[in-house]
Amino acid sequence: MNKPHKPTLSRRDAIKLMGISPIAAGVLASSTGSSIAQASEDVQGKIVIVGGGAGAIMVLSRLLNTIKNPDITIIAPNEIHLYQPGQVFVGAGELKFEELVIDNNRYIDQEKVTWIKDEVAQFDPDNNILITRARERITYEYLVVATGIEYHYEKIKGLSKEDIGKNGVTSVYLSDLEKGTAHGATATWEWFQELKKAAKTKKPKVIYTQPNTAIKCGGAPQKMLYLSADYLKQEGLSAEYTFATNGSKLFSLPAIEKSLEKTQERYDTITNKFKHNLIAIDTKGKKATFEHNYSVKGEWDEDLEEYEMIPQKEEVVMEYDFIHIVPPMAAVSAVANSALAWQKGSAKGWLEVDKYSLQHRRYKNVFGIGDVCGIPKGKTGGSARHHGPIVVGNLISVMKNQKLQEVFDGYTVCPLKTQYGEIIMAEFNYKGPAPSFPLAFEKPRWIWWAFDLYMLEPMYKYLMLPGRM
Ligand SMILES: Cc1cc2nc3c(=O)[nH]c(=O)nc-3n(C[C@H](O)[C@H](O)[C@H](O)COP(=O)(O)OP(=O)(O)OC[C@H]3O[C@@H](n4cnc5c(N)ncnc54)[C@H](O)[C@@H]3O)c2cc1C
Repeated sequence: MNKPHKPTLSRRDAIKLMGISPIAAGVLASSTGSSIAQASEDVQGKIVIVGGGAGAIMVLSRLLNTIKNPDITIIAPNEIHLYQPGQVFVGAGELKFEELVIDNNRYIDQEKVTWIKDEVAQFDPDNNILITRARERITYEYLVVATGIEYHYEKIKGLSKEDIGKNGVTSVYLSDLEKGTAHGATATWEWFQELKKAAKTKKPKVIYTQPNTAIKCGGAPQKMLYLSADYLKQEGLSAEYTFATNGSKLFSLPAIEKSLEKTQERYDTITNKFKHNLIAIDTKGKKATFEHNYSVKGEWDEDLEEYEMIPQKEEVVMEYDFIHIVPPMAAVSAVANSALAWQKGSAKGWLEVDKYSLQHRRYKNVFGIGDVCGIPKGKTGGSARHHGPIVVGNLISVMKNQKLQEVFDGYTVCPLKTQYGEIIMAEFNYKGPAPSFPLAFEKPRWIWWAFDLYMLEPMYKYLMLPGRM
């Protein structure tokens, strides 16, 4: 059995933090010791956590910090996971890929926890059984699902993962969570440089896409647009940028949408193509085909006193020199194809949990954390952090046969990079804006850039993953 080593703050990370904020360094210094209250809950029952990323580790640490004699098994194939928010900074040349790699052995204490290094192939919640890829049969009394998202590049006709990083095609998302690589992020940084080289001779046509599925980090498609446009602007260069999104606006909150419209004015010729979903690509001929959905005015309806709107669709082909693709995304197939998934509606295929309690709506001994949850807002690490205490509190209540107490407010966060050195820190919940600091939250600020680039990753490692925050 591996001897787990507790996550301690490295000298390098401490210096990074102190350079940014003595307060934050103080918080961290005090929290990397044994500041966690003694586990006090005397509950019984076998808990299985499925997944080995942000949500799984956060919930595991919180359960270990809370339950006196825990009986916990974690099923995850990956020894390492990535600090995924850093992929955008790798794509923009601000971080190296190696800085994102996190060793799961630091958090999964195998003296206290059983770790099955495999994937769950089948969920059988009617019998409280899981089947792994190696055909091992695992039983549980309580289950936490933290399996995240799967990318479906192959759903875009003509595209495969192998095309990323070639012929002007990139995608900052592409990673192999099992192998712990983020090929898409490093390819994107090369793409930035190729784009700059091309812009020296002519104005290249650059397309940035956003698909018609839920995606993790909803702001990332625009982050890549503004960072690459700023990368050229700093050299006095520009391009013809097209943001082709299946959405109908730049952001759901009006104040932030206005701020993004202002951001776009800083860059030369950004054209927004709303309700455009990438369906096919010819990577050799450099042509992208979108399905454009729109509606036209029909007959006047006397009863409703309004015109009937008739939905239409058309295929639109756009030529490009460079394209940044955000793939269609779905819950991992083992969940999507199981009884645990929503069987219909807009969340079909995602884990059917209650949006406030994060408890499964039909299987009361099952909870969800992170991106896999079929709830209205936020597939972000920030949301997963807020899910942690809700899941643990409510799971303990179920184990004690008590009424659920904890309520998730829908918190999510999107650090929108509008240029190098500036971020709009969009924090919101089910009710609307939810800024953590009393500042006009729609304004781009350098302080958020510094916070996101230098502080969040150490906070993730030393506070969030060990369940201290
Ligand atoms: C480019 C990019 C930028 C982002 N930017 C931000 C940001 O700025 N702010 C922010 O808060 N968030 C951001 N995020 C989102 C954030 O990283 C995710 O929301 C977060 O990692 C979700 O955690 P998770 O545990 O749900 O999923 P993951 O961390 O993806 O973990 C899922 C885990 O489940 C495992 N797994 C999958 N299937 C199975 C199975 N069948 N059996 C067992 N294990 C399985 C996988 O191996 C993996 O370990 C970004 C993400 C990306 C990709």
